[in-house]
Amino acid sequence: MAQLRVPGPTPCPPEVLQAMGWPMINHRGPEFKKMLYEVTEELQQVFQTKNDLYILTGSGTGGLEAAVVNVLSPGDKILSVSIGVFGDRWANIARTFGADVVSLNFEWGKAADPEAVADAIKENQDIKAVLVTHNETSTGVTNDLESISKVVKNAGKLLIVDAISSLSSIDLPVDKWGCDVVVTGSQKGWMVPPGLAMASISPEGWKAFEKAKMPRFYWDFGKAKSYLEKGENPWTPAVSVVFGLSVALKMMLKDGIQEIYARQARIGQMTRDGVKALGLSIFADEKYASNTVTAVAIPEGVDAKKLRQLMQSEHGIVLAGGQQHLDGKIFRIGHLGLVTEDEIRELLAALKETLPKAGFAGAK
Ligand SMILES: *Cc1c(COP(=O)(O)O)cnc(C)c1O
Repeated sequence: MAQLRVPGPTPCPPEVLQAMGWPMINHRGPEFKKMLYEVTEELQQVFQTKNDLYILTGSGTGGLEAAVVNVLSPGDKILSVSIGVFGDRWANIARTFGADVVSLNFEWGKAADPEAVADAIKENQDIKAVLVTHNETSTGVTNDLESISKVVKNAGKLLIVDAISSLSSIDLPVDKWGCDVVVTGSQKGWMVPPGLAMASISPEGWKAFEKAKMPRFYWDFGKAKSYLEKGENPWTPAVSVVFGLSVALKMMLKDGIQEIYARQARIGQMTRDGVKALGLSIFADEKYASNTVTAVAIPEGVDAKKLRQLMQSEHGIVLAGGQQHLDGKIFRIGHLGLVTEDEIRELLAALKETLPKAGFAGAK
């Protein structure tokens, strides 16, 4: 059976796709109001937060821009902790809006070292916020956000988290870890098509909002707040995606989020074990290997492009390539959201058959 195994967009359950086809309703009417409150409350359960939370129409990157422009002013010094493509992109967004970005970059494939974060904060006492990616999708690494959050909160700085490819799949207790702004996106672990970013903001985040002067119009949490008080979005939301999300959330909460995290962990481990059994190696430092996406090093002699092409044409399995300087060096298996152990077994069997055709001479 065909499998979409890229780290977003991810496959959607039929119930979610059906909901996407529901007739349109007035986005400023009573039915949508009821749904918006319900979905927001259910999202807060998955975020494990009592903080305000907004459903924004846009992709995850829009949510990252929102996180920056709502709490910062041009000239504010911030620390960007980056371990890959998405961390770098976020630093660029902040720079674009005039933040004075101090970069703490780690080698791709490695996790951020919380002690190095502590040192960087010590050396830059005047920073206002720390940007960190929970799960770096480009390298298949999950940062130790709990340890990083302790360092950041002990120093009294704002903690702003890209949880786009982790939230809903990897445990992230937003309130317990003191995360001030947390962003995720519908097409990753949520089993919903692209179109929504979801973001939470803490009371401390709101204090920063009061003083924040970065230009913003569409991504304004203040407008989102005042409209949500009447059960609306400031702008026309992606109504169909909200329909899909309302169904997906019911399914997720019925399963139980801790149960989902355990299942994701099982599937992640199974994927890594299976890949290694084929004689391949995991690109990421395995101690921090992600349970939502596995980056696999392309062995010597293997044509990365041909491998992915054959996986698709002969097995209907779509894998992701490497981004930027990892192009041709890794391929990535997305296993977040809707995925079963049987599908991973099937994928591994297909890989075993395809690898020699793409030049793999076997394990060294
Ligand atoms: C996918 C992703 C993004 C970008 O999200 P878009 O929806 O493509 O804009 C940012 N950060 C991480 C960690 C991601 O996985």
